[in-house]
Amino acid sequence: MADLTTNVQYVKGVGEARAKSLRKLGITDLRALISFFPRAYEDRREFRRIADLVPGEYACVRAMVAGEPTLSHIRKGLDLVKLRVVDESAALELTYFNQSYLKNNLHTGEEYVFYGKAEGNLLRRQMTNPVFEREGEGRVTGRIVPVYPLTAGVSQNVLSRSIRQGLDACADELPDVLPEEVRAAHRLCHIRYAYENIHFPADDEALRVARRRLVFEELYLLTLGLRLLRARRSDSDGQKCEPVPLDPFYAALPFALTGAQARAVEDCARDMASGRAMNRLVQGDVGSGKTMVAAAAVWFAARSGLQSALMAPTEILAEQHFKTLAPLLEGLGVRCALLTASTPAKARRETLARLAEGELDLLIGTHALLSPDVAYQRLGLVVTDEQHRFGVAQRALLGGKGDNPHLLVMSATPIPRTLALMIYGDLDVSLIDELPPGRQRIDTFAVNSGYHERIYAFLRKQAAEGRQAYVVCPMVAENGELPDERKAVTAYAEKLQREVFPELTVAPIHGKMKPKEKETVMRDFSAGRIDILVSTTVVEVGVDVPNAAVMLIENAECFGLSQLHQLRGRVGRGTHKSYCILVSDNTGEDNRRRLQVMTKTNNGFEIAEEDLKLRGPGDFFGSRQHGLPSLRVADLSCDMELLQESRAAAEALIAADPALAGHPALRRRIDELFELNAGAMN
Ligand code: ADP
Ligand code: MG
Repeated sequence: MADLTTNVQYVKGVGEARAKSLRKLGITDLRALISFFPRAYEDRREFRRIADLVPGEYACVRAMVAGEPTLSHIRKGLDLVKLRVVDESAALELTYFNQSYLKNNLHTGEEYVFYGKAEGNLLRRQMTNPVFEREGEGRVTGRIVPVYPLTAGVSQNVLSRSIRQGLDACADELPDVLPEEVRAAHRLCHIRYAYENIHFPADDEALRVARRRLVFEELYLLTLGLRLLRARRSDSDGQKCEPVPLDPFYAALPFALTGAQARAVEDCARDMASGRAMNRLVQGDVGSGKTMVAAAAVWFAARSGLQSALMAPTEILAEQHFKTLAPLLEGLGVRCALLTASTPAKARRETLARLAEGELDLLIGTHALLSPDVAYQRLGLVVTDEQHRFGVAQRALLGGKGDNPHLLVMSATPIPRTLALMIYGDLDVSLIDELPPGRQRIDTFAVNSGYHERIYAFLRKQAAEGRQAYVVCPMVAENGELPDERKAVTAYAEKLQREVFPELTVAPIHGKMKPKEKETVMRDFSAGRIDILVSTTVVEVGVDVPNAAVMLIENAECFGLSQLHQLRGRVGRGTHKSYCILVSDNTGEDNRRRLQVMTKTNNGFEIAEEDLKLRGPGDFFGSRQHGLPSLRVADLSCDMELLQESRAAAEALIAADPALAGHPALRRRIDELFELNAGAMN
């Protein structure tokens, strides 16, 4: 019996060579091996007589090798093995490319089962590269066969054999983390049956039953994990704010809030004055004005003597928030400071001292606000902007810093309802579904690189009218090396400056620049001293330059839909007519559809739904985005019923055993999945 953490290399029958292949797929231990689920299945159950084969259709035949296989070298790199097999009805010619060893593996006079696509005609029936095995082996023929997602250098065969070995090594003693009563109540199969049949289904029904159990388990663990993360907040008394009227704040603004913004502000004020901790998500499309909602909440907290922390995912964004918010809020008596990784040591010490003394009301920063040496006198509100860059666990960590502070999460990534339900299960939501007045639709075009001359002419014309442009340059990996963003961006910026726009000012910006340099470039761009800013996706999030009217995205196929939408949101932020140009030479169907979605709609929620349809939920769940475990079997576009059912079960369990003290194995599994350190969960 093998432990699930056993290195695959030591799983009986796998060995060093295969383990090396498996590692390419991220499979390092036994658990990862048996949890590497098929992406599809091939039904190879149908047997036919050779005479009944239909050209173009797949089938199994039982046949005898009728003569010695012949091996011929056609040319360098091309070997053929040919042989004839027969059954009682007819003969079939088989051809194998570049598998010369088969000459000695298929023996004259012996019977095998072959599976492949029939070709040829009635007189001359053929198959190319059919899989085969001896009758009764039942591994690759005569059954439903798993199809695994693979990378180069690993074959289906290696994988399914390894998984077979893996299952044999542990199947009898697979630990089941689902409580027995849950399993019984929801009519879920045993874990062993589930793993066996998700890989090697006996029939369709067995596959359905296996999958149902694994999907349930996956969603159950996910819900439990999220509940644990939030549990400590749920019953919590919050710091009660004075219900002061918001008029002084409104009066200080240079514009009137939109109805949707005002509603969000009032939601926050109500929460914060309620005596319970606020737990609110503000979801609004790019440019909908979420920053002002945060400002209002900060002001409201400060009026009751509470400090606020505002956390942004990048330094540029934190600095920008500081620049827009500090003048406004200082004018209202809210003392603000910026703290980032590049704050000089002396300034940092002073800021921290003021913070601890209660001489600061708002601290704006990046992850630096999470470091243990940042101590607040009376932290009452935590705002995280562009939440999708922060993991759930990080959020929890920050929440733990004060005396149960109010939490305001701002997200510009519209999330389909089904996913929002999971990710933000018990956050209250304010939706900003209205843009500030005067905004126009961003006209979006998808073209190939043949249009470059016309695009450049268009940029020139826009510049002549005083507008600015972003050019997003993709990271192209050169001969298998990691892409070098600095090189790509500076080279493209230089080329544009020298060869295309000698009369304009072109400047590069990228993540490898020193924060000071980046800031200078952003400041120059903001002030209109740069016409064309060539960047990587560092501009993706939140940067606000109302005079920028063109977003040109090169190699648009490299970006996800949501990312393209975010990038596009950098323009159209002022009153100028704005444009987004997506350049791609990729003619694949998927890419074409994605770019078409962009040209058809400006609505982030519609785009998110499309993204979910096109890419599946995996990307939304990648730990990079949310800190959530990725879904391996569940498909939220069709498993909604199971989601409800497993959620109800998870909630019942949490109600009865809030910390899962009575279910230690289950708790351990969840901690592993969420990769949580004890600190974040307790
Ligand atoms: P996002 O929701 O993407 O964070 P921002 O808060 O950055 O949007 O706001 C985008 C732009 O709209 C900013 O320039 C901001 O000053 C402006 N803005 C916000 N609210 C309003 C409003 N009610 N009327 C006019 N302009 C507004
Ligand atoms: Mg923003």
